[in-house]
Amino acid sequence: MNLLNFSTTFLDESSCKAKWKAMREKQDVVCPHCGSREHYWKSDREYYECKKCKYRHGLRANTIMHRSRLPFRYWFVAFHLLTSTRKSFSAKELQRQLGHKHYEPIWALLHKLRFVMGRRDSQYVLEGIIELDEGFFSTEVSESEKDKPLKRGRGSQKKS
Ligand SMILES: [Zn+2]
Repeated sequence: MNLLNFSTTFLDESSCKAKWKAMREKQDVVCPHCGSREHYWKSDREYYECKKCKYRHGLRANTIMHRSRLPFRYWFVAFHLLTSTRKSFSAKELQRQLGHKHYEPIWALLHKLRFVMGRRDSQYVLEGIIELDEGFFSTEVSESEKDKPLKRGRGSQKKS
């Protein structure tokens, strides 16, 4: 999804919430108390009530947004930025883009998101023919190179 599609599809809090609810229900909502997958949706108070044990839980319970009080839209913007670009971005930049006053909750959001994305990625093993984009990784400098002045950029001894 490109930026224009994103901004028209998820234009406000309620469109993000509706999408989140649909995604949860596609994967089955599981009662945290008894494990049942049968629920009533209480639209006035926005929670699920388990048909079996009557336990109530909200849209965010047991998801990456568990206990988060940040708007759904913040999360969606972060999902979009993190998955649609190849560039990394800092919590400071995300905070600036969202126009949020405090740094810590935005840092925590990004940290959680990176953690679950990393966990998901580690479930997959690449096989067959793999095509990679050009990339540079920091490497150790060998003993003989250690005292030489470091070159900058692509030619640097610290990049492979
Ligand atoms: Zn239950």
